[in-house]
Amino acid sequence: MTQQTSSCSPFNHPSSVPLYSVDTLATAPILVVAPHPDDETLGCGGAIAALRAKGLSVWVLVISDGTKSHARSAAYPAPKLRSLREAETRRAMKLLGVDASQITFFQLPDSAIPTPESTEFASALDRFCQYFMTVAPLIIFAPWRFDPHPDHQATWQLVNSALEQCSMTSRLIEYPIWDWDQAQRHTSELTVASWRLDISQTLQVKKGAIAEYRSQTTHLIDDDPQGFYLTPEMITNFTQPWELYFEEKMNSPESLSAEYFESLYQTDPDPWKFATSDYEAKKYEATLAALPHPRYRSAFEIGGSIGVLTEKLAPYCDALLSIDVSETAQIQAVQRCQSMPQVQFQIMQFPAQYPDKKFDLITLSEVGYYWSLDDLKTAQDRIANCLEPDGYLLLVHWLPVSPGYPLTGDEVHNSFLEMVRFHHVLGQRTSEYRLDLLRKM
Ligand SMILES: [Zn+2]
Repeated sequence: MTQQTSSCSPFNHPSSVPLYSVDTLATAPILVVAPHPDDETLGCGGAIAALRAKGLSVWVLVISDGTKSHARSAAYPAPKLRSLREAETRRAMKLLGVDASQITFFQLPDSAIPTPESTEFASALDRFCQYFMTVAPLIIFAPWRFDPHPDHQATWQLVNSALEQCSMTSRLIEYPIWDWDQAQRHTSELTVASWRLDISQTLQVKKGAIAEYRSQTTHLIDDDPQGFYLTPEMITNFTQPWELYFEEKMNSPESLSAEYFESLYQTDPDPWKFATSDYEAKKYEATLAALPHPRYRSAFEIGGSIGVLTEKLAPYCDALLSIDVSETAQIQAVQRCQSMPQVQFQIMQFPAQYPDKKFDLITLSEVGYYWSLDDLKTAQDRIANCLEPDGYLLLVHWLPVSPGYPLTGDEVHNSFLEMVRFHHVLGQRTSEYRLDLLRKM
């Protein structure tokens, strides 16, 4: 994924930012951290409802007590305002599908969430760590690190420091709130990738949840002339059919190791749900539909994993060589394809190891982004060399940012498309994956 800079700010041109489906976030538990009661709904309400609709566990942590929104109200002194705002959060979350038992209020003072420079930071950090260890979130939604509001920046600091202190590797997704206001926007270069989540299916329920915050969206509290009011114009930024997010892409310069995959398969026999997910089933259908010929003399599948695609591909092939780095994965593949004598399996760490054969079809599905750029270049040479003239290369890769992977799906495909040894025959793109068919010149 390309990095966005202020010259092409995603706030100015959100429609040019990649749009993904909620299926790209199908990992739980998920934690949403809000500096104030309502940030979780404004920034992530559509995501929360969509994740809950998929049955995924969502936790909500509200950091400040929100009592500075109407600090001078006599009718709503701080304790009453705090209760009101907490009740609003519970009602909003109920609409989005989150039970009250999943919500925690830290009740830190509004407009004074501790920053790393303050003496209260250490004790706040301890609370975050204890909470993180209990919930053990795999994904955390936290405020965008450069959000103009000091409480939002302080919350990001606490989340980031707590992750470091607990040595947790949760995926951290950042949501903007006040940057939507041009006057407040941070102007230096953004160092993280931006993407949008399609929330068209949950937008209506999100609007309902925002409306539950009557203390913020109406003139319910009318005795504080300086009281806060979320105008319809401000709300418009949060009621699009998508939500904007930022995410740091922690590029690893090394290819992921064979041990990494082996330990994944030993923990979960199907870590990517190749055999059961709708996403995979649709993608395999599109993959087979993209095959240009009804039959192949000799095909080569790089990264056969547990053999789900291997089994579907085999009927098109007189011979099919399927390789993988994980023995645990390949044992499943061998079982899955035991009635298909044309399929041969080998443990092979491509591109360092490669077959001394020629092929008329090579498939590279969900593999390329695990390689370093150097290994990708080597792999491209090897693939071009062992493909017969007029042979086909079929590339299929997941598109969303995967922190920790050396490359993205787009980087892999774009790099192949630049090769003069290939002719681009077919390209397809969905919100989740990309498929390209190339023919060797
Ligand atoms: Zn806020």
